[in-house]
Amino acid sequence: MSLKALLRSLDMIDIKPKYLFLTHAHPDHCGSASILEKIYNLEVISSFKTARVLYDYARGKPDYSMIVNYFMKQGVPEEDLEFIMRDFFWWTREKCFPRRIVELMPQESWKGFSIIDAPGHCLGASCLYEPKNKILLAGDQIIDGITPHIGYEDDWDPQENPLRDYLDFIEKVKELSPGHIFSGHLNLISNVDRVICSIIEHHKTRYNKIISILSDGRELSTYEISRILFPNVLDAINLRLSISETMAHLQYLFYRGSLQQIIRNAKVYYRLN
Ligand SMILES: [Zn+2]
Repeated sequence: MSLKALLRSLDMIDIKPKYLFLTHAHPDHCGSASILEKIYNLEVISSFKTARVLYDYARGKPDYSMIVNYFMKQGVPEEDLEFIMRDFFWWTREKCFPRRIVELMPQESWKGFSIIDAPGHCLGASCLYEPKNKILLAGDQIIDGITPHIGYEDDWDPQENPLRDYLDFIEKVKELSPGHIFSGHLNLISNVDRVICSIIEHHKTRYNKIISILSDGRELSTYEISRILFPNVLDAINLRLSISETMAHLQYLFYRGSLQQIIRNAKVYYRLN
């Protein structure tokens, strides 16, 4: 349906695209790439890392056992884990990957744009910045009205600190001071400062809430904290996202020295330092 709408819109404005830049490997951002590639004979471009993620998916490589083990360590009960994994990466089973991707390295220039490494939301994500007109193509990194999901899910390495990486990225965007941001969802952003401030505030509020949950001295798992933060989440995708977003905040607080990690019976628990 979204493909039809896109084709109809391009037709209405009489545009035949030559290039398709994939900001990251999520299905709502590249699920129709192979079809568009064929229809318009266009060149598909992405960061080197996003291309690697997509090629791995295309080969059917994702190793779910690592994800299952990591979620189990976070205290996710078996029935919820089964529910989550049934839904996980359904789209990688569809053969929707481009034949060829031109791979760009961070800071490389491409047709007047620089490619900017954009960690936090998804492995390998990147943005394009056009310095002459101060335009940022931000994918899911910055959206007005929705706070982007922060937390790597596939291939999560326990050493990662995606929220810190994301907040560092936001500081970089502040320095670039773009006049306009084109997001992967919703509206064009012209009041960049307001949106950036609201994103920073949102994460502060979220991690302060975690500190207040643990302020009575309790030791809780990521899963238990996520159910307090997001009590009304019922569907598989949002359950998975709520756990991974909670992980990102806990990891950030742990590395900041605000929390301790306690390993008990192969599960990780957190308490205030
Ligand atoms: Zn995304």
